[in-house]
Amino acid sequence: MKENKIWLSPPHMGGNELKYIQNAFDTNWVSQYGSNIDEFEKILGNSLGDNSFVTALSSGTAAIHLALRLLGVGEDDFVICQSFTFVASANPILYQKAIPVFVDSETSTWNLCPNAVEDAIKYCLKQGKKPKAIITVSLYGMPFMVDEILELSRRYDIPVIEDSAEALGSKYKNKPCGTFGDLSVISFNGNKIITTSGGGILISRNQESKDKALYFATQAKENKDYYSHSEVGYNYRMSNISAGIGRGQLEVLENRILKRRENHVFYKEIFKNIDEINLFEEPGKDFFSNFWLNTITIEGNNAEITRENLKRKFSKNNIETRYLWKPMHLQPLYKQYKFFGSNVCGILFENGLCLPSGTNLTGNDKDRIMNILMNFRS
Ligand SMILES: *Cc1c(COP(=O)(O)O)cnc(C)c1O
Repeated sequence: MKENKIWLSPPHMGGNELKYIQNAFDTNWVSQYGSNIDEFEKILGNSLGDNSFVTALSSGTAAIHLALRLLGVGEDDFVICQSFTFVASANPILYQKAIPVFVDSETSTWNLCPNAVEDAIKYCLKQGKKPKAIITVSLYGMPFMVDEILELSRRYDIPVIEDSAEALGSKYKNKPCGTFGDLSVISFNGNKIITTSGGGILISRNQESKDKALYFATQAKENKDYYSHSEVGYNYRMSNISAGIGRGQLEVLENRILKRRENHVFYKEIFKNIDEINLFEEPGKDFFSNFWLNTITIEGNNAEITRENLKRKFSKNNIETRYLWKPMHLQPLYKQYKFFGSNVCGILFENGLCLPSGTNLTGNDKDRIMNILMNFRS
């Protein structure tokens, strides 16, 4: 009999989600208003601290789009964006008819390389236009080089949109991801560390910015007693049902972070003994990752120990693995746009693999994974 499938990062309910959904039904607040939304925003705002004004939205992608709108990004504006990411970091740039300028990763965090960011800024300035924003990513939960990137942001006076979609619970120098951008984004898609089934938040640094986000997220409807609109808006608000799932999930967030980090230790033990495979780890004590996904790179010339062999072996045993994100500058959709850097993220893409990292991995699941990795040579 085939054993059950081990997924990369499946949803993992905490137990109280249905209670909050039931409450939404009982009070008939099943739409885009209600106490689940209010509480979800409040709890997240308090836990992030540091002037975090949270707007609950239908997706992380919507949050990135609103961030660009709030910064006034429009046609033919330059926006600097990490190339090594999920496509949702970049697509909203095109929604706004702006021009993405992609930047390579550095090897320690796999995120924005500060030197390459500066090259990109200088290129834009030479074209006579300062970039309107820098989109940072904390890939697989690993915080980016925050000090270095924020220093560039200040020196050139360019706002940062922090795409921490994958990094809820991660920290840099003990400060949580979601607090570093002029505007920050976290996703609650089904595969993230916790989920609202689908959803995201935009984090603003003051009430005025939050109010503006809410306005754009609700069709830019003006405060009059008839429907009055002067600008284009969107239907981007989170539903009170989804927020109910989110409330239940927030109750177990701390546990989920511990579990993901436990998974990381599990892999660390295994890969200690396999020279050809490098587990991606925190580059120093300033970095605290939620280890949303554990990732490896496979190096060396051993004909047997290759990424494809490993992937095949996992797949035969009904275990899901995935390639790393394919960089944006290598995507057909984005190939006409500028890229700054060498090819760090391209090489990572060629050699890397994501391993099962869900918080509901059982002991038996881990044994199956370990078996494959330990017997890989034979
Ligand atoms: C998941 C993700 C997003 C998009 O979030 P959705 O909620 O799925 O729209 C954006 N950026 C990154 C890096 C992501 O991983």
